[in-house]
Amino acid sequence: MKRKRVFAKKSLGQNFLVDQKAIQTIVDQVPETELLLEIGPGRGAISTHLVGKSANYFLLEKDDELASAIGTTLFVHGSRTHHVFHDDALEFNWEKIWSEKNLDSSKKLVVVGNLPYNVATEILFRLLDLEQKIEKMVLMFQKEVGDRIAAKPGTKHYGFISIATSIYFDIEKILVLGPQSFKPAPKVHSIVLSLQKRKEPLIHLASDEWVLFSKLVRACFAHRRKTVENSLKIEISKVFPTLSSSDTIKKIFSQAKIDEKRRAESIAIEEFYTLYKVCRSMQ
Ligand code: SAM
Repeated sequence: MKRKRVFAKKSLGQNFLVDQKAIQTIVDQVPETELLLEIGPGRGAISTHLVGKSANYFLLEKDDELASAIGTTLFVHGSRTHHVFHDDALEFNWEKIWSEKNLDSSKKLVVVGNLPYNVATEILFRLLDLEQKIEKMVLMFQKEVGDRIAAKPGTKHYGFISIATSIYFDIEKILVLGPQSFKPAPKVHSIVLSLQKRKEPLIHLASDEWVLFSKLVRACFAHRRKTVENSLKIEISKVFPTLSSSDTIKKIFSQAKIDEKRRAESIAIEEFYTLYKVCRSMQ
């Protein structure tokens, strides 16, 4: 029988992993867990090795053909307990993971995925919204994006995405992969990150504080070559409209005990939080 050839779809970021050593390294990072979700299983390069890691293995795939084929592929590999959601990770109602099998909502999720690069950061932000329900994530990104996520204060890639992620997760670089590890080969290198949920977040943001805090951090990074004071002179009115005078900005930095001549990339997460609290108290 002739096998139907399925071409990779560029629009869905389909670069299938063919590097067996890399697949094993990723699988080794995934702990046995009560609840496992793989985003974008594709043809099952990683999925077939995850069978047995969890009694509740969910897969989320947007592609029509791949979503219908992956269930059978896993069945052939001995899995009897997986469930495939044929959906878009950007539209998906994550609560379905718990409701589908009537699972206790306190059960924490492990997430794995070689993410489609065109929407990888958007997917990450959706997962960050779900952080309270996540125990660990093992995710592959385009290398430049992964470097930004994993960047520490004082380094050139440090920015909003590093801060948003590391408030809740301890980030470790696991593996860098060249284009030859995939078919079709992408033009870029890739990186696998382990994101282990912290026991305590680095800062305790209330849910209604997130929007303003994130706007303030983005404002500080909006002009990376300028000092944080000059950056805020330009941007702060978009975040805290009543705080825009130069004098007020000086006072904010003095109260927060942060040297206003520093650049945003040198400011630690806890310092950004102090800056935020001072702004709120003065507005
Ligand atoms: N895990 C497979 C592997 O490593 O070979 C495939 C990885 S491939 C880089 C990305 C996968 O995500 C593809 O299967 C693609 O169809 C799927 N995908 C793309 N956009 C998606 C979305 N918005 N939601 C869910 N899956 C998506």
